[in-house]
Amino acid sequence: MIWLPECYMPSSLFISSPFLLGRSAVLTFNTYSFTYGHNLYLCFAKFLMSEEDLDMYGYPRPHENYGCALISENVLRKDPPYSTDSRRVCEKCAEPYTVDEDGYPIEGIGKCIYHARKGFIRNRTNRHHEDVRHKCCRQEKGSPGCITSKYHASHNVDPKCLTGFITLRDPPDDGEKENNVYALDCEMVFTTKGRELARLTIIDVKLRTVFDKLIKPKGALLDCITQWSGITEADLKTATVSFEEVQRYVKKLFNSKTILVGHGLENDLRSMKVLHDKIVDTSVVFPHKYAPQMKESLQKLAEQFLQKLIQTGEETLGHSSEEDARTCMELMLMKIKEDCKQYAPKKVVNLNISRR
Ligand SMILES: [Zn+2]
Ligand SMILES: [Zn+2]
Repeated sequence: MIWLPECYMPSSLFISSPFLLGRSAVLTFNTYSFTYGHNLYLCFAKFLMSEEDLDMYGYPRPHENYGCALISENVLRKDPPYSTDSRRVCEKCAEPYTVDEDGYPIEGIGKCIYHARKGFIRNRTNRHHEDVRHKCCRQEKGSPGCITSKYHASHNVDPKCLTGFITLRDPPDDGEKENNVYALDCEMVFTTKGRELARLTIIDVKLRTVFDKLIKPKGALLDCITQWSGITEADLKTATVSFEEVQRYVKKLFNSKTILVGHGLENDLRSMKVLHDKIVDTSVVFPHKYAPQMKESLQKLAEQFLQKLIQTGEETLGHSSEEDARTCMELMLMKIKEDCKQYAPKKVVNLNISRR
């Protein structure tokens, strides 16, 4: 009997890898239809994050109070400090400021100036000099920011007590059919209530968009952070879906066994207010080459593994939750397929067993 790894299908169902098609290959669903159903679910399950990882990467974790979540103290990248009074620290420019009782900044209005992107481009001009420029605007290192926004803003939530969280229902005992995998990505905006969900995209394993909607924020809008979210104020005015409607939809579509795929999903789950532990995080599956404590950007991973350019918009950095969620799913399908190849049975041309 020929041994087949669990995610390998007969050759009639196997369609060649994008790598075999060359660098300019267009990725389509067919390219990836090498396995499906419960087998594919099991392939994804091999990359699930452990409880320790979920803690360490700052995912919302169960709290003793129903409807609440907490962020572990062992988290790698700390959030800006939480304040119980009106003092805040801006998440964009890192300046301190104060807010009134409704959450409106009352200090330093118009003084939120910052660089759109972290990181620098370095060019060694000669032995003694290196030209270092900001990645976002190519200005010299240390120059004033390239973005000015009217208000400072921050999330300022108590990491020990996040409220309004939902948990997902258990599937029926024989519910293998309900064991689904989805990729998701959110875009957030800053309002007087903090960082609020403004767009959610959900992609299925066949790379079909299942959900992609703008969501009405609850607080008054302070900053769309268009350079990161890709969302403008005019876009948000057209939003008709409420946050509660999104949560109801998510509760229907997902269950406690559903695997959610994304790049650094901790912030997405925090803003969707969903408690879940079946997570495949592409920033963990594809660690940074040189600095394991840092996350590789989704843009870099897409370029490196899928030969695909994303987030290339000019005015914004081109973020789109649809593009990002799709890219995460493509990365994982590629990874699973490559891993399958490693364990695939090799074709034996001639065993040459001598007959005596
Ligand atoms: Zn800049
Ligand atoms: Zn600021």
